[in-house]
Amino acid sequence: MRVVIVGAGQAGAALAAKLRSLGHDGQITMIGAEPAPPYQRPPLSKAYLLGDMPEERLWLRPAEFWAQNGVELRLGQPVTAIDRAAQTVTVGEEVIPYDQLALTTGSAPRRLPAAIGGDLPGVYTVRTLADVDAMRAEFRDGARAVVIGGGYIGLEAAAVARKFGVEVTLVEAAPRILARVAAPETSTFIAGLHRRHGVTVLEGAALDRITGTDRATGVRLADGQEIAADFIITGIGITPGSDLAAAAGLVLDNGIAVDDRGRTSDPAIWSAGDCASFPYRGGRIRLESVGNAIDQAEAVAANMLGADKPYTAKPWFWSDQYDLKLQIAGLNTGYDRVVTRPGPPPSFWYYRGAELLAIDAMGDARAYMVGKRLIEAGKSPDPDLVAGAPDLKALL
Ligand code: FAD
Repeated sequence: MRVVIVGAGQAGAALAAKLRSLGHDGQITMIGAEPAPPYQRPPLSKAYLLGDMPEERLWLRPAEFWAQNGVELRLGQPVTAIDRAAQTVTVGEEVIPYDQLALTTGSAPRRLPAAIGGDLPGVYTVRTLADVDAMRAEFRDGARAVVIGGGYIGLEAAAVARKFGVEVTLVEAAPRILARVAAPETSTFIAGLHRRHGVTVLEGAALDRITGTDRATGVRLADGQEIAADFIITGIGITPGSDLAAAAGLVLDNGIAVDDRGRTSDPAIWSAGDCASFPYRGGRIRLESVGNAIDQAEAVAANMLGADKPYTAKPWFWSDQYDLKLQIAGLNTGYDRVVTRPGPPPSFWYYRGAELLAIDAMGDARAYMVGKRLIEAGKSPDPDLVAGAPDLKALL
């Protein structure tokens, strides 16, 4: 069986390694558009951007791992087409056959339109190693930055910039930062953290355009306010990498639609990671996290080899900002109540009725671990007990 993996990132690397550890001894070819070997992205907006982590520590496996495990790694070569009838993919002039194909194409950062200055020099996104290497020189004491978008990536970049002494203004169009992913309690906590570190956090502030002609010189907001800046970072979300799948006629639904085995609408094609949406609790979700990329890819590897087991997501996420490690377990979608376990440090517990859905722990690793165990076991402690800040063990 010849397996071809398109996308040499977190999910692709996990899939290839798992196929080998499960005993698959057929050909594996992993094709990546980026020149770097498979690497982890989280440090790009944290330790690596800060200069605290050498490049080699980003690599998911030592360079020799791939050859030693018989994985043919082709880097810097985007796959441009899939021919489902012939079971081949096209890379440059070459056509590569597959028996089973995996699409682990990740996602791409949304960019501001060129018409409002989105393509000016001095405007950066934070997705790839090349993105971060390109912006690094801007991080110097006294420089002025505007971060557009108060999601995790924008907030992490803002925290790193402050550590370098950059003056940071963060512009969020929604009424509060993290509005898409967290409760007001978490937004308020994190906005306060940034304000205490000297970031000007503007919420409900719509962008009109990036100013400048040859290079970004700042931003103008919809209310006419102008903010001067030496550089701009945009963190305004991502779009799933589903272009190849779309062109091949696979079913899409907020990314590449897969079933609970990780199979697309073509039985010989699978997908995992940021680009794949999958069934979850009667609906369909797509997760943008390391944990999901690894677990889903490993489930796909097993299913490619005939395991025929459903993938059950156990969502978790973390974010590092200043000295805070924010940890999240579960998915808060559909919550109707947030209970605060006061701390310090506090944690915010999301409930739907009496059911515990998720927890955001603000630097409380024990609360996170307990919450995660409860959620994964389908157990829901009495909200009043949580609010009363009892011994965490009592909740278990
Ligand atoms: P990726 O790792 O993006 O890999 C996809 C690869 O496919 C890319 O290299 C891409 O170039 C390649 N590709 C796309 N199209 C083609 C093609 N046609 N041909 C060949 N190759 C192609 N998650 C957390 O859980 N915690 C965090 O703290 C966290 N921090 C993050 C910080 C940053 C700055 C970023 C960008 C992400 C962060 N994430 C975090 C998210 C996490 O990194 C992603 O969810 C994870 O990388 C998804 O893995 P993936 O394999 O689906 O996609």
